[in-house]
Amino acid sequence: MMQAYPFGYRLSDFLQGVMDWVFPPHCLGCGIEGENICPDCYATIKRIPANVCPYCAAYVSTKGYCPSCKNRKPPYTQYRAFAYYGGVIREAVHNLKYQNDTGIARVLAEYLLKVIRSENWEIDLVVPVPLSKKKLQQRGYNQAERLARPIAWALGKAISTTALLRIRENVSQVGLDLNSRRENVRGVFEADPAEVKGKRILLVDDVFTTGATIESAAGALRAAKSGLIYAVTLCRSDFNNFDIQNQ
Ligand SMILES: [Zn+2]
Ligand SMILES: [Zn+2]
Repeated sequence: MMQAYPFGYRLSDFLQGVMDWVFPPHCLGCGIEGENICPDCYATIKRIPANVCPYCAAYVSTKGYCPSCKNRKPPYTQYRAFAYYGGVIREAVHNLKYQNDTGIARVLAEYLLKVIRSENWEIDLVVPVPLSKKKLQQRGYNQAERLARPIAWALGKAISTTALLRIRENVSQVGLDLNSRRENVRGVFEADPAEVKGKRILLVDDVFTTGATIESAAGALRAAKSGLIYAVTLCRSDFNNFDIQNQ
């Protein structure tokens, strides 16, 4: 179902403000009261530099594609991320995924929005990378949707949580190399042509490890005849660092 400016969202925004006033948040980095991430801890975040590969955000010394992306054409047009995984961002992602922390979700969405606004992307529809039904039931919410909803709202674009579905569960990505990860997520997504045909998509997820998930999700959208796809994630890990679950 597509929604543009749901009243419920504005209401929950207001309620979050009330909650923050009654129970002020504590910084996830240093514990100081007042903000979810204080200015000092924000300053320690390792931001992704401007000089990165447009497909995988790997650092490149001159503008252009990195050696491993030079000869490939992923199903999305461009990928951007806010920061490298680690430090206070690692804590924040943990709270986003496992602690039902709606306050940090809004803060992180604001960070990601800065990256999106720095690009001149034409977007019709915001699509969070979905969880499987089972996983969604276990967790109670989709962390990617928690990022995507405030972003769609701020951009004044529609969001859909039904345009793209995760039709089967992939086994954990932990410990798999790039090729195994690509194999592991192949065919796990399905997109609805009625919702995505001809639409330019902003695909949103929390973490990018090898890009296998984003690539598979974008592939399903393209198979359903979507327009151009721009992908963003809050953070990106090092390709050599497989200690996090890419989901
Ligand atoms: Zn702090
Ligand atoms: Zn690359």
